[in-house]
Amino acid sequence: MHSYSRGHDTPLIEQPIYDVFRQTAGRYPNRDALIVRHQNARLSYADLAAAVERTARGLAGLGLQPRDRIGVWSTNCAEWVMLQLAAARSGLVLINVNPAYRAYELRYVLEKSGMKALFLWERDHRTDYRAILADTNAAPPHTIYLGGDSWTHMFLNGVDPVPVEPSPQDVANIQYTSGTTGSPKGVLLTHRNLINNGRVIADGMHLTPHDVICCPVPLYHCFGCVIGSMAAFVSGAALLLPNAMFDPLATLQSVQEYHATAIYGVPTMFIAQLEHPAFPTIDCSSLRTGVMAGAPCPVKIMQRVIDEMHCPEMTIIYGQTESSPAITMSKLHDTLEHRISTVGLACANTEVKIVNRESGQTVEVGEPGELYTRGYLVMQGYDGDPDATRAAIDADGWLHTGDLAVMRPDEYFHITGRAHDVIIRGGENIYPREVEEFLLTHPAVADAQVFGLPDLKLGEIIAAWVRLRPSNPATAEEIREFCRDKIAHFKIPKVVRIVDEFPMTVTGKTQKYKMRAFEIDHLRLSAAASVQTA
Ligand code: AMP
Repeated sequence: MHSYSRGHDTPLIEQPIYDVFRQTAGRYPNRDALIVRHQNARLSYADLAAAVERTARGLAGLGLQPRDRIGVWSTNCAEWVMLQLAAARSGLVLINVNPAYRAYELRYVLEKSGMKALFLWERDHRTDYRAILADTNAAPPHTIYLGGDSWTHMFLNGVDPVPVEPSPQDVANIQYTSGTTGSPKGVLLTHRNLINNGRVIADGMHLTPHDVICCPVPLYHCFGCVIGSMAAFVSGAALLLPNAMFDPLATLQSVQEYHATAIYGVPTMFIAQLEHPAFPTIDCSSLRTGVMAGAPCPVKIMQRVIDEMHCPEMTIIYGQTESSPAITMSKLHDTLEHRISTVGLACANTEVKIVNRESGQTVEVGEPGELYTRGYLVMQGYDGDPDATRAAIDADGWLHTGDLAVMRPDEYFHITGRAHDVIIRGGENIYPREVEEFLLTHPAVADAQVFGLPDLKLGEIIAAWVRLRPSNPATAEEIREFCRDKIAHFKIPKVVRIVDEFPMTVTGKTQKYKMRAFEIDHLRLSAAASVQTA
């Protein structure tokens, strides 16, 4: 049997994003749509619809025309969501700009995207955004400071927007992929991509207007603005933003205060909450479901979220920005084994296959290969980069994800690593994920990251960075000793380093390349690192 699977077919939504939102708002005008804890804001669907109309008038007053591009360079806030919907309402293209970007990256996005307006806060307690923007020398025609005079003026000078009915096939959003590899690329996503993916996710979690989704993940990333806001607005659920940036305590407190029924996060966010000293005192009993995604999800952490955070219907989503993002998802009532050790089944209207990277052939079930996906979810391409688009999407419409995976006989998928993540030590292929899962079984280990280091003899050796639980000391040697005889000798990390934290992107992806660079420098491996291969 070949590793090919197809989610069930359902009719796609062929309406633009704002039509769908308007219908939901018409149905549930008095239910909560958006709760922003740090701004003390609570908007019903009727309130949010009215705020979006005002924002759309303001955008029209700036002279923006359908298909113009506007950027939002901001941490999570109510204005982000208003702009997301107002852009969709007005046929504008929203450009998500990572709030962690500094002048170099911001200039790149400003120049590359050709945005007509940029929305940002002047500063927050960490960052002076105004000064960074000035540093770029590339400010767009309109710079609007959220909450400032320019924002107020925009509303005061609002005019009736030109009547516009965006086509579902129009690009609604450009999301820059986070920088774990190479330079950022602008992923072009249509109304149809986004609203249908939001619907798949909402259906997968059985979201209803009675649900409150605690969303500590950033809105600039697809986890926030699709799995978060799109899924909420197709289903009538409330989107709860606990803080401007991820904070474990604020997230837990918001769950308790607003009786959240769903909670989102990348694995490291769940780890931070489970380990927080206040965790045992927080009442999480309102939780029912949620999504862990964005990075390989450790089995042990999933198990703890189900048991200790009271999320009996927790799900895993696997996907990437280029696929809107969800490709596979586990089912609420799957067996525990399916829900904690796989990333689920192909989503509705989605094809998935696993391909041998050398031969290009679909592999047999159980064999590893690269995961390809096809269907409504595939991006239109990378903005202004036809070569990169052709490299990512083949002539038959398959998106090559660059992720390595296995399809089981029951058609559930298991992610084994990134294509370039595989460590090859003396000819043995090692999937870092497997070693990380094993290290997590050590009682002192809170989190582990495994990566390859260059070695003159073996090609690569294995290194592990480990974070310990606060109350549980262990030495690097003890951890290595723990591995002995429990996993194959070639999988035992030669280098183990105990660290306080990992280098991370703001979306919570660990940056293994930084750990690797540190070790190459520290262990003086540059000779091995510069060996050329055929
Ligand atoms: P991004 O485009 O920033 O959302 O990153 C997508 C990448 O994150 C994927 O290509 C995977 O490498 C990884 N990823 C996302 N979800 C999962 C998951 N559930 N398990 C393992 N890796 C994941």
